[in-house]
Amino acid sequence: MKANRKPFSPGPARERIEAHWSYLCEQIGERRAGSAGERAAAEYLLDQFRRAKLETVHAEPFPCTTVGEARAEIALGCGRSLKPVPARVLAGSPGTPGRRAATGELVWVEMPEQAERLFQPTLRGKVVVLFGPMPTRADLHRRLVKCQPAAVIHVDDRLPFDWVKDDGVYPAWVRRYGMPPIVTIPYQAAWALRKQGASRARARIIAELKQGHSQNVVGEIRGRRPDLPLVLLGAHHDTQCNNSGADDNGSGVVALLELAAILGPERPLRTIRLVSFGAEEQLSVGSAAYAIEHRRETPGVGVVFNLDSVSSPLGHHWVIRAGTRVFGAWLLRELARAGLEAREHAAPMPFADHFPFSVFGTPAVTFLRPNMDSGMRWQHHSAQDNLENVSVTELARVVGALAQATRALARAVRWPFPRGLAPEQRAETARLGKELFGIKANA
Ligand SMILES: [Zn+2]
Repeated sequence: MKANRKPFSPGPARERIEAHWSYLCEQIGERRAGSAGERAAAEYLLDQFRRAKLETVHAEPFPCTTVGEARAEIALGCGRSLKPVPARVLAGSPGTPGRRAATGELVWVEMPEQAERLFQPTLRGKVVVLFGPMPTRADLHRRLVKCQPAAVIHVDDRLPFDWVKDDGVYPAWVRRYGMPPIVTIPYQAAWALRKQGASRARARIIAELKQGHSQNVVGEIRGRRPDLPLVLLGAHHDTQCNNSGADDNGSGVVALLELAAILGPERPLRTIRLVSFGAEEQLSVGSAAYAIEHRRETPGVGVVFNLDSVSSPLGHHWVIRAGTRVFGAWLLRELARAGLEAREHAAPMPFADHFPFSVFGTPAVTFLRPNMDSGMRWQHHSAQDNLENVSVTELARVVGALAQATRALARAVRWPFPRGLAPEQRAETARLGKELFGIKANA
């Protein structure tokens, strides 16, 4: 590795950025929670944190679900002529009973407007195609489990992809309510089948889940006043399956390492803690474990800046804000001064690692760079999320601006914004914290 030949650089360094990125995405590749790839990424981070001379460098392990074997044979069509369709097992899904194929009638349900159909007992033993988002409300997920379909086929409606996109189901829901066997298929395959009037399906799903463990990797730039709340910089080093996660979230991890290199040699007033979280893709499992474990630490975490998917060549810089308007306005001003014009989004957003901290009232943001109007990235969670589709320039821009904002806070005795969330965020944040993570804010 040439990564650290230069011990210090005043700004983001292209060569170093590329070396980290290539190690994570080419040497290691896929880094699914609990896998050998994820462990290798954590080892790399421990090593790099030490080389950057961070203090108290260590890993904090926590339990997570790991996927052993997972494959699906799905055939759809009319009558007896069923044709195979590429499919992927959703993380957390069980297999079809006895590893056998289930054959049955195909029922198309358009979500969310036809969600009421999940309340019909007639879905039992059938194969249900869900077109649109998976249920985002616990009661709907529970209904889906209760109707006992033989299998569920999910079709992601965010863009007409000809490849399979995959997300998971919230682990807390799977633990509490269970889950039917669920696979995803490409939008375009579903389109063609719908036009043909496909009405039957055969689904054989093999999925083996094990209890495993993941880890958060921690290092600190020690401040002169450890009695003051600290600044936490975060990212996640795990990926979804079948991709090298160059943007999601190799970009955030590389940015974190770059921040370590830039800020490491400084001696701030407040401590800056860097944490690379594991198992984010299973819904912020690592950051939730961390936020819960450290919630009583004093003086504790004063603010969280999390980086997740920040390197789209074309795109919009977003700041997902959990915190007051004053906090948001201060941050946007600070970023703009450093050459990063960002847009802010203030609705509670549980799909990133800043969220669990916000449930405890800590001001927290996630930096994100979507490239679609919907706030998504087209390459997200697919093999297209590779080093061909990232931008060093955009990554360096985020790093430079965030280094400046971090410095401003790390040298201040008083901060220009209050602790806590905006009043309009509180109820929804508490509900999501409880429903998705089982966090009770006051526990
Ligand atoms: Zn991510």
